[in-house]
Order: sequence, then C-alpha cells, then structure tokens
Amino acid sequence: MTKRPPETQTKNTRRAFLKTLGASAAGLVLAPTVFTQRRSKKCIVIGAGFAGLSAAYKLKTAGWDVTVLEARTRIGGRVFSHKFAGTDLVCELGAEWVGESHERLKALCHDFNIPLQKHQFEDYLLRDGKVYRPGEWGFSSQAKAAFEKLIAGYEKLTPLAKSKLDKYDWWTYLEKIGFNGDDLRLRDLMDSTDFGESIRHVSAFAALAEYAESSPKNEMDYKMTGGNSRLAEEFAKRIGPENIHLASVVRSIKQSPRGVVVGGYRVYPPPPGSHAESLPSLSEITADAVICTVPINSLLKIKFDPPLPPAQRDAAERLTYARICKNSVLYDERFWRDENFSMVSDVTSHYYFHSTQSQPGKQGILTSYAIGEKADVLASQSDERRLRIITNDLVDFNRDAPKLARGIASYAWQRDEYTDGAYAVYKPGQWFGIRPILARPHGKVLFAGEHIADWQGFMEGAIETGEAAAAQLIH
Ligand SMILES: Cc1cc2nc3c(=O)[nH]c(=O)nc-3n(C[C@H](O)[C@H](O)[C@H](O)COP(=O)(O)OP(=O)(O)OC[C@H]3O[C@@H](n4cnc5c(N)ncnc54)[C@H](O)[C@@H]3O)c2cc1C
Repeated sequence: MTKRPPETQTKNTRRAFLKTLGASAAGLVLAPTVFTQRRSKKCIVIGAGFAGLSAAYKLKTAGWDVTVLEARTRIGGRVFSHKFAGTDLVCELGAEWVGESHERLKALCHDFNIPLQKHQFEDYLLRDGKVYRPGEWGFSSQAKAAFEKLIAGYEKLTPLAKSKLDKYDWWTYLEKIGFNGDDLRLRDLMDSTDFGESIRHVSAFAALAEYAESSPKNEMDYKMTGGNSRLAEEFAKRIGPENIHLASVVRSIKQSPRGVVVGGYRVYPPPPGSHAESLPSLSEITADAVICTVPINSLLKIKFDPPLPPAQRDAAERLTYARICKNSVLYDERFWRDENFSMVSDVTSHYYFHSTQSQPGKQGILTSYAIGEKADVLASQSDERRLRIITNDLVDFNRDAPKLARGIASYAWQRDEYTDGAYAVYKPGQWFGIRPILARPHGKVLFAGEHIADWQGFMEGAIETGEAAAAQLIH
C-alpha cells in the first residue's frame, strides 16, 4: 500500500477509524494533567515483546528511566526465531512476514542495520490428493468479480457501513455477495491462515480491511535476514540489558497518588546471563507510569487496584485468540525446487511454505502452518507423530518427503502460557464493539500490544501501539 497523506487516511482507512471515531471513546488521548506533575520520569514496561521493547526504547531515548519486566526467560514474545542445531538455517516459530506497508517496522530495521530479504510465495494447491500448480486453480469468475467490487468500494464505506459490516462473519458476507460453496471453502482455506481460525468466526469488517489496506501479497513481503528476533536483540542493546528483567511475572498493579506499584514473582532460578538477580522484589518497584503490553490472557491474571472498570474487564473476557501451530521440518533436500514454493492444502498440515528461501545450503526447511482444530490436533501429538503426519501429508506432492525429513521444531501458540493463542481474533461485532474499550488507559497505566492495534495481528501493530503509549508519556 502506498502511504497516503494523513488527511486521506483520516477519511478512509481502518486505522484512521479508531483514531478519529474511536479516539475519545478509546481514551487514547490522555488528560494532560495526569503526567505533567511528575518529579521523576520512571516507567515500568510490562512485557518484552515488540510493543514493550518499542515503548521502552522510545522512552529511554527521551531520557526516561525504564524498567522492563518480562515473564519469559527470553525477549521477543511472539517473535521467536529458531536455528536448527548443526545448521545455519533459521526459521520463525512466531511472526513470519514483514509487510510492504509496515512503515515503522521497516524503518526500525533500516535504522538498526537489519537487512530485509524477499519472502514472497506463489501458492500451489493440494486438494483431495491432487496437486495444482500456481495459476492452475482459483475462484469462479463470479466470485472474482464480486471480490474486486468489494475491495474497490472499501474506500467509500461510511463509518456506519463499516460498523454494519462488522456485524457479519466473513464467510456469511462473502456468500451474500455471490461466492458459491466451492469458492467459500477455498477462501476459508486461504484466509484462515491470516486469521488463525475459520473465516466463519471472523468479523467481515476486520477481514475486508485487512485485504483492502494490504500490499498485493497481503503483507507477506519480507523477513529479517538472520531471523526476526534480531530486532528484539537490537532493541535490547539500546534499552540496556540491565534494564530488562527476565523471568519476572507481574501479578499486581496498584495505583496511588505517589505512583504505581508493580508486584509479582520471579520464575526461579533466573536464567544465566539475565539480570533478574538484580531485581530486589517486584513489589518494591514504583514508577510514575506503567505501560502494560501483555496479551489478554495474562492481563486477566493481573490484580488491578483500583480494579479495571467492569466494561474493560468484560471486553477482555470476551476477546479470544487464534489457535496456530507452526511446524518447521528440516529436509535433506529442497525437493519442492521453487525458491518461492508454498502450498495451501485441505489436510491437517494446512499451509506449507519454504522457510529457507534465500538461505544457502542443500538442506532446507518447509514450515507447516496449521490453524484452528488442525492446530489442536497437531499440538496434542509427540514430535515424532507430528513429523509423521506432516511429512505424510506431503506424499501426494512428493512421495519421498517422509524419507528426507531430518528434524522438526514446533510451537503451538494456543498452548503458550502467556498468550493462550497466536493473536487476537475479532469476532463479528467486536472490532468496533470491544477493541476501543480495551485500548483505554486505566489511570497511570497505559495499554499497548498487537490486540489493540490498527495493524492488529502484526508486528507493526505491536510497535505502533508501544510507540504511541510512550509518546503519550513523553508529551
Ligand atoms: C504463529 C504466529 C504468526 C505470526 N505471523 C506474523 C507475521 O507473519 N507478520 C507479523 O507482522 N506478525 C505476525 N504475528 C503477530 C506478531 O507476532 C505479534 O503481533 C507481535 O509480535 C505481538 O507483540 P506484542 O508485544 O503485542 O505481544 P508479545 O510479543 O506477546 O509480548 C508480550 C510479552 O509480555 C510477556 N508477559 C505476559 N504476561 C506477563 C506478565 N504477567 N508479566 C511480565 N511479562 C508478561 C510475554 O511473555 C511477552 O513476551 C504472528 C504471531 C504468531 C504467534
């Protein structure tokens, strides 16, 4: 997407909608008196994912004293690069693609000298045991025309029309505009990888906005050379590792006229090399403000004093997260041949793509990206059984796939202790119904994170909200 001037954005984009209509309701503009009286400038940032790290970096650059508290024994949160032992091959078990439209993410990679490499694909289709090459499969002409018309009309949607669209699920809406059964099933196979659940559960507005505002490849454009975790490491260098406390789980946030006191516990033993040992006790940390970036599952476990307003707690309880299981398999040969190989399928492994595009070597990694129930099926197997399922699912494409497999690295995000899913799924009525409520600050606690972002479900969204929260404090 080419960057549009701000006035145009204000009128037309999904992002601008929250900024204009939602801004006061969402409480994004803080009362100026809240922070102007401060004597010191100290902020506790909860969570060292991209929202937390970008907030901490911005505050640090502005001269604030920042402490980042992170529950895990690593930084990066849902950005989690993996290198197979004995190889130089890197794949991503969390966030994969950097989008063409993701301006902040691209700018940070540029500033921190992290090269981006092309990570675009041409999809094969594997259906009912038959393989179709890119270009050999697609939608009916009626569905294609209806979809094009829908995208073309997006710019002209009024706020009321957007709000009405939000009440539908994506499947029902596509059916309403003329998709036949086969078109719908195909669309579901493809789009469910974007949302992590069947399109029967996704707000039609959230879906349309994503496709209408995205780059032609739906933001599946680049990845960071060497792994997306590099950006987390670069942030950490600049924030100062001594200011980032790993294995530190926040469980309480108490506000008083003197400031905000954050408490919790440490996960013992602190990992070697972390600075958790320098943390006297979480309950002793007091700051002028807190930026809380934890996913909703974790937020609901934090005791707020004063408590979160009932509407905000209710909104949090209603938000669910996608089930995604990523399974990267190392093969002795790149039997898929095409550098830009990917394949949508109707089997458990769901979507395959070549993770080692542009990485030299004979060996290569194909990642299976399974969503919803398929993700749950794979998550409950042992590594050995998962490997068998994923490689056997490929035999219609290449019957030697099982023999060539050497190892597997999997991560089932729906089983992650802190996230309980991959990213937020806004169901019908929720995009405009609960998202603005979740973004409201609570006294001196500001919220950030993918789940409340305009670029929701993306690294860009995490950064956008982290930087916005920091900017609220700085000004
Ligand atoms: C499988 C998968 C695929 C994805 N694909 C893409 C993609 O291709 N492109 C893209 O742009 N994005 C993608 N994303 C989304 C992207 O990863 C997220 O939007 C982004 O990383 C979220 O950042 P965040 O800071 O909001 O949350 P997180 O990264 O989850 O950070 C929150 C941090 O808070 C910590 N925490 C939780 N509870 C506590 C507590 N009580 N105390 C202290 N710390 C706590 C967590 O451990 C975590 O580190 C994907 C995500 C997944 C899971």
